[in-house]
Amino acid sequence: MLTEEEKYDFIGKKDTKYNGIFYTAVKTTKIFCLPSCSARKPLRKNTIFYDTKQEAKTNGFRACKVCKP
Ligand SMILES: [Zn+2]
Repeated sequence: MLTEEEKYDFIGKKDTKYNGIFYTAVKTTKIFCLPSCSARKPLRKNTIFYDTKQEAKTNGFRACKVCKP
């Protein structure tokens, strides 16, 4: 398992290897993404990690239109 710090370091690299393993959600935009999303990297304090997209949706986040998680 990855720590939250490792997840945060990983995002923004546009690497698809963790797609489906975790999702990144941004508190300020209420959108969740795949780790490989090419959208601008959010600030650490605004980022939440979820293991499933269902969890992100349950918490009120919408799927990103760029990476379509
Ligand atoms: Zn995205």
